[in-house]
Amino acid sequence: MPWNFSAGPSALPAPVLERAREELLIRDKRGSCLLERSFTGAEFVATMTAAEAGLRELLAVPDEYAVLFLSGGAMAQFGLLPMNLARPGQPAAYVESGYWSGRAIEEARHFCSVSFAARHTVRDGVVHLPPPDEWRIDPDAAYCHYTANETAQGAEFHIQPDSGLVPLVADMSSNILSRRLDVSRFGVIYASAQKNLGASGLTLALVRRDLLSRSGSAVPSSLSYRIQAAESSRYSTPPVFEVALVKLVFDWLRAEGGMPAMEVRSLYKSDLLYRAIDDSAGFYRCFVAPANRSRMNVCFRLGDEALTESFVADAEAEGLFNLRGHSRVGGIRVSLYNAVPEAAVHALLQFMDHFAARHG
Ligand SMILES: *Cc1c(COP(=O)(O)O)cnc(C)c1O
Repeated sequence: MPWNFSAGPSALPAPVLERAREELLIRDKRGSCLLERSFTGAEFVATMTAAEAGLRELLAVPDEYAVLFLSGGAMAQFGLLPMNLARPGQPAAYVESGYWSGRAIEEARHFCSVSFAARHTVRDGVVHLPPPDEWRIDPDAAYCHYTANETAQGAEFHIQPDSGLVPLVADMSSNILSRRLDVSRFGVIYASAQKNLGASGLTLALVRRDLLSRSGSAVPSSLSYRIQAAESSRYSTPPVFEVALVKLVFDWLRAEGGMPAMEVRSLYKSDLLYRAIDDSAGFYRCFVAPANRSRMNVCFRLGDEALTESFVADAEAEGLFNLRGHSRVGGIRVSLYNAVPEAAVHALLQFMDHFAARHG
């Protein structure tokens, strides 16, 4: 059986894909399927409303938050955040923790001034995230942005930060819906769909309603949090297929036991892998501090880095795919999103064990 450990676009639950094939493309009595009818018609509105209700139930999203279904990906949000939340000349605070937060900062600089609340460190080749209780957030900042899970390095914040009066903004593209979450601690949460939610083309944003009034007229209307919230994310045509697909994912997640179940599973799967790495007597080496290791993207190197290519090739021969690390990081990356079953992890562990025995 082939197993897909892709970092994104990544594995989707098989029952969701089967239902999508059955449901989404069925033509109704008037001859149209989901992709062929108006986004303002009753059928699609019902689908989108159900998707929103599903998410609200899964994450216990309080009423004071608008749920937005946007397009453009998380990287578009890197620029849209300062455009929607910062007044001209107002700084925004950023936590620099690795590759994706770096990209967010680089983009934000085109639209506001950036102050650093904290930065990650690499000591003896080991990545350490800055502990949230040591962040120093500029009290004048429009918001404080952090990347909840650094997908490329495999480093995750396991503590929900407290940013005081400055609204906290989180890029949760690669760990949303993998654990329980206290949404009320955040000003904005956003996530691309193609990692742990659904298919690319959709970006989810939860925006505390008191922040909506900050979106001024300088923001293009279809990208304005305020206007999209007022128009129920249908100011312009939303990505209809992706919205319908994510609704099926939410249905699946609720049937599987919701966030408590995903929390247990993601810890279980990642713990198994980290334990195998730590117990390999240096054959495999994790380069993230234990307290910051990601449950979603387990990254490691081979002690003898010259073996990396044969690790990847031999894994593929055993049906284990998409294990190459991010291009900027190298090594191996195992992405363990909700749709990756425990059986995939067991197959990988067995392969890692045999590979180490052959080369150790
Ligand atoms: C993948 C990823 C992004 C980029 O998402 P796009 O949809 O390609 O724009 C941003 N942030 C994080 C944490 C990611 O994992």
